This record gives sequence, structure tokens and C-alpha cells, in this order.
Amino acid sequence: MSMSGGNTGGSGRGGSSGGTGRGGGGGQRGGRGGGQRDSSQRNAQGRERNRPSQRSFTENAPAQRTRRADPARLVAFEVLRAVAAEDAYANLVLPSRIRHHGLDKRDAGFATELSYGALRGQGTYDAVLARCVDRPLDQLDPAVLDALRIGTHQLLAMRVPAHAALDQTVGLARAVIGAGPSALINAVLRKVTAHTLDEWLDVLVAGESDETKVASIRHAHPEWIVRAMRQSLVAHGRSATEINDLLEADNAAPVVNLVALPGLGSLDEALENGATPGELVEGSALSSGGDLGRLASVREGTTRVQDVGSQLVARALAAVDLDSATSPEAWLDLCAGPGGKAALLGALANARGAKLLANEPAPHRAKLVSQALSAVPKDAWDVRTGDGRDVGTEQAESFDRVLVDVPCSGLGALRRRPESRWRRTPKDLADLGPLQRDLLKSALAAVRPGGVVAYVTCSPHPAETTTVVTDALRKRDDLELLDAGAVLDSVSLTGSLGAGHGLTAQLWPHIHSTDAMFLALIRKKA
Ligand code: SAM
Repeated sequence: MSMSGGNTGGSGRGGSSGGTGRGGGGGQRGGRGGGQRDSSQRNAQGRERNRPSQRSFTENAPAQRTRRADPARLVAFEVLRAVAAEDAYANLVLPSRIRHHGLDKRDAGFATELSYGALRGQGTYDAVLARCVDRPLDQLDPAVLDALRIGTHQLLAMRVPAHAALDQTVGLARAVIGAGPSALINAVLRKVTAHTLDEWLDVLVAGESDETKVASIRHAHPEWIVRAMRQSLVAHGRSATEINDLLEADNAAPVVNLVALPGLGSLDEALENGATPGELVEGSALSSGGDLGRLASVREGTTRVQDVGSQLVARALAAVDLDSATSPEAWLDLCAGPGGKAALLGALANARGAKLLANEPAPHRAKLVSQALSAVPKDAWDVRTGDGRDVGTEQAESFDRVLVDVPCSGLGALRRRPESRWRRTPKDLADLGPLQRDLLKSALAAVRPGGVVAYVTCSPHPAETTTVVTDALRKRDDLELLDAGAVLDSVSLTGSLGAGHGLTAQLWPHIHSTDAMFLALIRKKA
């Protein structure tokens, strides 16, 4: 498990351990997690800090120990609590907790790394904790377990000195859970410090011959997802041996990508502020981080945050050569919420004199679609709030280009949603299948003869990708698959993404640094 780096900010303030956690800076740590230590972790004498055997802990009397919660750790704790107790999404809860506690940029970074890292690594950390607690973990108070996970992530995968991680986590527990549990947390976390992360991983997999179990522990994914991802690699023509790289890619914090809406936005301001030009698709950039709201173009909505994979598939749909099309062309985004691809398609439609209809059944998400499109001139788009399954009959053969970006398991975007790997179940795949098939059927009914449908998922799993497409094609003889890999290549700056397999295409986090987006382009014969 290679946990994304973690800065040491926020770690020591206000506690009896003093400010020892500061310094060393933020950013990601390359390579494998807790076992790798860089020079910033060495003290003035060149001695490596934070080695378990060399760790020293504060020996303060109980009365002198930290009693208040460090705000950054409190935010992380509140995020984990909301995820576990209220089924909340970490990426939605975190910003509001950061605002509520008034964290500065450095502490916000620390809270983000701590909460996301503890959530991503939960399965592995629980396996470590199970070796350190004298009862099954499900018999612990859930709040105590979350505090232990936060402490374990600091100790094993962040550059936080052990005494600061321990003191501050125990102080947090004392402040928000109580004195009794904090003693237990103190005792358990001291046992966690017996090994580095790499040593713990070796302990946990010792004697285990099942490769899936080993990968599950080493890369912090449930076993069923390890199997599903391996199956996905093979289904899209890649080697199963890539599984470890693929799972590791889920454990790294994704770089924030920007898109300048074609004809409307510019990346100049972002580039002047440290962003770097994207290498895969035109009009994209890699953000330098920080508050994007400081960029006027982001505030006005002409520059947006969007994964490069999403940019590529939207541009691919717009790039397909149509033998005959209506003039002006009519475009449809059948499952548009929250509107990322709709905004890009709307801008492309506007530049080409086409008109986009963006459909979304959930009213609050339809509102987000309108907001996303608000920077695009209004005569280039409309939003429909309704079930996409009805569009094919209500507006049969009305559109030249249709995007059907179906609700899916999201297995291709696990790096963005730290808790989702532990929340999803294999049943999700089965449950979503009928809706995905119905939406594709509706899209195929809504497209004109000669027009094209882009079937898209942010999952590589064959049950949601190739099988759905193959089933749709098997039932009709008026459909043909276009070479999606070739079309993606044509809109990429590299000209050869290597995403195609057969006639469909699959992007990968470990290869393309994008979400694992799947694309099939289906033409209805004229
Ligand atoms: N294309 C979107 C974007 O780029 O922002 C993401 C689409 S998301 C994968 C799938 C969307 O389908 C969700 O907003 C969900 O509410 C919507 N959805 C769910 N059931 C639907 C239905 N019956 N008809 C149309 N859309 C549906």
C-alpha cells in the first residue's frame, strides 16, 4: 500500500508534544508507503526519525497530556464519523468541516490527507488493528475505531513523528470520546508502532498463498474488487499482472485536471498561477493545487475541474464523422448530472452551431447541470428533468449525437472517492445492469439513422461495459461499432493512447492517469 504522502502540518500544535510535527512539507510520497523514508525525515545528525525501534513517547503525567483536539485531526475524525454513521461522502463532508473549523491551507491539507488516507487504507489498517486489540473490532465503539484508524494512518503512512501522532490522537479521543476510551487508544496505538507499514504488511500476509487476499491487504481493496479489477484488465486486453499497479493507482491522490471550455474559456490564468499544460488532450491543464476559486475563469465557469478521461470521451463523441446529419445538429446527454461532460459538450455544440439537450432525472442534479452549463450561451442548450428511459420513445430518432454516461459502480474512480471501495458490493454490479441496458436502449432509439451513441461508464468492469454493449448489438442489425480507440487517439495530443481493444476503448488510472473510463461508439446505420 503506497499511501499518498502527507505533510506534517497540524500535527503538533497545541499539544504537550509541542510543534515537532511541523516541517518537512506536503506533497506526495512516491513508492511504497511507510517503509520509505526520505531525507526530510532525518534530523540534524542524519539519524532517521520515526523508526519504530527509535521512537520515543512523551512520558508526561496524565494531567499534562494533551486534552484538546487539534482542529485538523478533529476535522478528519468528524469526516470518518460522518462516513461511518451517516453514510456521508467524504468529498462532500470534508470541505464543510474545514470551513466550519476555519483551517488554514496547511491544516486543510493535513486534514485532507489524514481523512482520505485513513478511509482508503481502512481494510489494511483494520487488519493491523485486529492484531493489536484484544477483541473483535466490531465490538469496539465505532468512534473509538475511527480514532484508531486516524492514529494508525499517521503512524504508518504520514510523516508525523510517532509521539505527536500518539499524543494528538489520544488528546483528540480524550476531548471528544472520553478519558476511558483514550487509554485504550493509547495502548493500542503503541502496539501499532511496533512495525513500519511494510513490516506490518509482511506480518499480515505471512503464510498466505491466495494472491487475491495478499493483494487485498497490500493494496487496501476488498477482495471482490481485486477480483473484479483483474477480470476487467483481462476483458480489455491487458495483462492480469498489472493488477498491483492498478490498485496502487487508486491509493494515490488524483491530480486535479482543468478544462477550458472550447471557444469560451482560457487556461492562461491557470498557467500563470502554476498549472501545467495537459499532455493528453487539448484545452486541459494540471492544477497546481490550492484554492481554484482564486481564478476568475473558474469562478465564471469557463474553466472547470474535469478528469482528462471525461474530457477525452466527450470530445470523442463530438469528433465522430457523420455521413449525414441534421443542420444544425441536435445532441443529447441522456444522464447528464452533475453536468461535467454536458458543459464540455455544450461548449463544443455552441462552437459548432449545434444544440444540446441535457437530461437528468434527479431535480437537484438537473439544477447542477444548468449551473455547469451557465457559462455556455443559452441558445446552445436545454435541460430536461426526467427519466432517460422515456426519451427514446418521446423523441425517437431526433438526435445526431447521444452521450449515455450511465449510472455505474464507479469502480474506475475509486481514487476520487476514498470510502467507496468499502461501501460498494458485488450486488451493485448486478443491480445496475438492467438500468444500464434500458438507458442504452433509449439512447439507441433517440439517435437518428446515421447518428452515433457514445456509451460511457467510469467503470472498467465487463458486466457494465462490453457485456452491455454486446447484448445491445446482438439484438439488432442496424447498429455498428465504430473504432472507439482510433477516435480517442484522434482527439488526444499524443495520437496513440493505446486505449483500444477490439472496437471499444478503456482508459486506466495506472496507464493514462485518468479515471478508468470506458467508451463504445455505436452508429445507427443510415
Ligand atoms: N455525465 C455526468 C457528468 O459528466 O457529470 C455523469 C453521469 S453519472 C455517471 C450518471 C447520472 O445518471 C447520475 O446523475 C444519475 O442521477 C443519472 N440517472 C440515474 N437514473 C437515470 C435515469 N433513469 N435516466 C437518466 N439518468 C439517470
